[in-house]
Amino acid sequence: MEIINKYCSECLKFNGICWLKWDMPAGMDYGRRSANKGKEVYTMDVRKMRNAALGKRVVAALESRNMEAYYVETKEEALKKALELIPKGSTINMGGAASIKECGLYDAISNGDYEFYDRDKVGTPEEKEAIALKAFSCDYFLGSVNAMSEDGVFVNIDGNANRVAAYAYGPKHVLLIVGMNKVVKSEEDALHRARNEAAPVNAQRFGIETPCVKNGTCFDCKSPQCICCQILTTRFCRVKGRFQIILVDEELGF
Ligand code: SF4
Repeated sequence: MEIINKYCSECLKFNGICWLKWDMPAGMDYGRRSANKGKEVYTMDVRKMRNAALGKRVVAALESRNMEAYYVETKEEALKKALELIPKGSTINMGGAASIKECGLYDAISNGDYEFYDRDKVGTPEEKEAIALKAFSCDYFLGSVNAMSEDGVFVNIDGNANRVAAYAYGPKHVLLIVGMNKVVKSEEDALHRARNEAAPVNAQRFGIETPCVKNGTCFDCKSPQCICCQILTTRFCRVKGRFQIILVDEELGF
């Protein structure tokens, strides 16, 4: 049995359903590889189809909130789109977003074509603080979200709050790379994901002593090392296009 994998970027124009005439064997649906023994079987990646359909809706939802939004399939495309959006010479700052590093954007902006204030390259707490304060006047602040609802509301949780502060006010643009793994149904689900999945995973990364590190989910702690001091819900962009969001059909960040 020959299996031909076909996936067409045109699907994005048709709500995730391909209407091209591929001479499908009778009785076959796109995405299924069963039945039709011995015949040519057409398959599509059903996960891609689902995410393309959902991604299109999330892009429209974000645009309705005065944000720029794009949907791409791969980390490589996300990097390309981000570099198209950020003019060379821009001043750039960022929080500790794993998604920015995972798609290669951190390395790309470290190449000397940008004025990147990198807190990972300084040693003292005073230098880190100075870089955090520069975020408010920079051209671009880069990051991700802890969770996003399918109608385009997103939630971020912060310990030091430099990241959520910059999201809320200051930088001319906030560019976010968001893996589809962070898109959930509702705003309530987004808060739940941020508190019970993203924050406990980040707590594990930091090796702190909090109930979530021991138990794997949030216990609404007041521990001295709590990383959930500020919770920001973003639902609209006052300055049109200040938020630029690239949704990626890959698992990125936490
Ligand atoms: S237990 Fe504390 S640090 Fe951990 S996720 Fe909950 S509030 Fe945050």
